[in-house]
Amino acid sequence: MAVGSCATGAREPSQGRKAAALSGISGVPQIAWPPRSRTGALTLHRSAYRHHVGTAIAQNDLHTWMGLALDEAAAAAKVGDVPVGAVVIFDGEVIARRHNERETTEDPTAHAEVLALRDAAEALGTWRLIGATLVVTLEPCPMCAGAAWASRLDRVVWGVANEDAGAMGSLYHLGADPRLNHEVETIIGVRADECSALLGKFFTERR
Ligand SMILES: [Zn+2]
Repeated sequence: MAVGSCATGAREPSQGRKAAALSGISGVPQIAWPPRSRTGALTLHRSAYRHHVGTAIAQNDLHTWMGLALDEAAAAAKVGDVPVGAVVIFDGEVIARRHNERETTEDPTAHAEVLALRDAAEALGTWRLIGATLVVTLEPCPMCAGAAWASRLDRVVWGVANEDAGAMGSLYHLGADPRLNHEVETIIGVRADECSALLGKFFTERR
């Protein structure tokens, strides 16, 4: 493959693409945006969530899991944190449920997803969350999408799009970037209206 080599010699194709994208070497094809999934990891769009019937996950489960994440989000709002909630599912069981604690802990990394992934790793006794699903009310930011990537989990399900910092479909898609060595199936728009309403109410009340 032509993109597999550059001035520094032969590389793995994925490394070549990565180097090209980062350095902008002339003559080396740049990454097309949005990047195409390397493995064809399934990415469902909102309309697909509503109508898709081929996914291995029952719509009822998605609805129920997001309900738990919504409960967590509501708990965050009660203590003055932006209402974002996350749960981690493994083998059909909820193994972690957390909400945003940035204000209460003054920790910039205390997003619901990171906290839930840490709890999930503790519950499973391994950092490799292969087989797990993260369900979160708001599309993950770059940090949380990065944490999902780092955990090697199977799937992220999110509710409402994060137009300011979304990194799993809106501004970036770290779940389906062929330059990365792990892809994450992404299901979007689950109970989006309810996830959005919680955030809207929170910010309206604080104005
Ligand atoms: Zn985040």
